[in-house]
Amino acid sequence: KKELLKVNNLKQYFPVKGGFLGRTVNHVKAVDDISFEIYEGETLSVVGESGCGKSTTGRAILRLEEPTDGEVYFEGEDLLALNKSQMREKRKDLQVIFQDPYASLNPRHTVGQILTEAMQIQKIAPRSELRKRAIELMEIVGLNAEQIDRYPHEFSGGQRQRIGIARALSVDPKLIIADEAVSALDVSIQAQVLNLLKRLQREFNLTYLFIAHDLGVVRHISDRIIVMYLGKIVEIADKKSLFENPQHPYTKALLSAIPIPDPEKKKERIVLKGDVPSPINPPQGCRFHTRCPFATEICRTKVPELRNLDHMKEGHRAACHHIEKIHSGEMALQK
Ligand code: SF4
Ligand code: MG
Repeated sequence: KKELLKVNNLKQYFPVKGGFLGRTVNHVKAVDDISFEIYEGETLSVVGESGCGKSTTGRAILRLEEPTDGEVYFEGEDLLALNKSQMREKRKDLQVIFQDPYASLNPRHTVGQILTEAMQIQKIAPRSELRKRAIELMEIVGLNAEQIDRYPHEFSGGQRQRIGIARALSVDPKLIIADEAVSALDVSIQAQVLNLLKRLQREFNLTYLFIAHDLGVVRHISDRIIVMYLGKIVEIADKKSLFENPQHPYTKALLSAIPIPDPEKKKERIVLKGDVPSPINPPQGCRFHTRCPFATEICRTKVPELRNLDHMKEGHRAACHHIEKIHSGEMALQK
């Protein structure tokens, strides 16, 4: 497996202004020291409740927001060392699809204009060929190419998302970051768009970083999954391992909330108490300790490392002091 993207110790802190002079009084630690890698051709999903830092991670990789600290390597090249124009050029390789395509599609531009814009900027094709390419793109994503001169508002939500996908595809990228790309769509339309993304991945050898708040949505599309909580990665594993043997109490809780496909398989039900705490001054130690049914003293003081687990296969990592005891049953929920 070839590493396409490598993120090391990424941090994204946003200043919180306050007081009479509006000085920085605090920081939102939206992403706090996370590391992971994306392999070529895979779909790596990032899931977690809103405010866990998953979108911020995607935006930091693309430098839509400059990260506070850390390293981002794409094909071995340090993205954070690039200047603005070099980074703009890189956008040929790294594209993004947003949750609300309507907000990211210029309402005064036709689909044809929207699809040719990026190709023009990136000098993908001679001007005379752009319209032909736009028509091809529309066909590839399942849109009626006769509607090339229509405006975004004339399309349905699902079709607009297809326009967003076609636009991302227009520059022949290697990595696509899909930020809640199907979250706003009806369930049946969601499935269609997910299938389209899967097909495009095979046809164009794409790699996806797929951001979603729901494990149910990422189930079919993912190869591996990252679970985030309050700016931290709590677990990372391949899909099968994560769904069949979730290790972190938070992952178990998320899985408790979605229907079980195999009713024979009993799973430990963990129902979370309370809400996600504020990422301003997040809980000390393990950030999940205020809601974790297994929390002990060490959880309140020491930050658990994301680490490989001896009892799980290589690559299944979790961040919890008590994983082994929970796994062996030595620590169990009171019934
Ligand atoms: Fe729960 Fe402690 Fe593990 Fe955090 S480290 S998930 S609080 S048991
Ligand atoms: Mg988000």
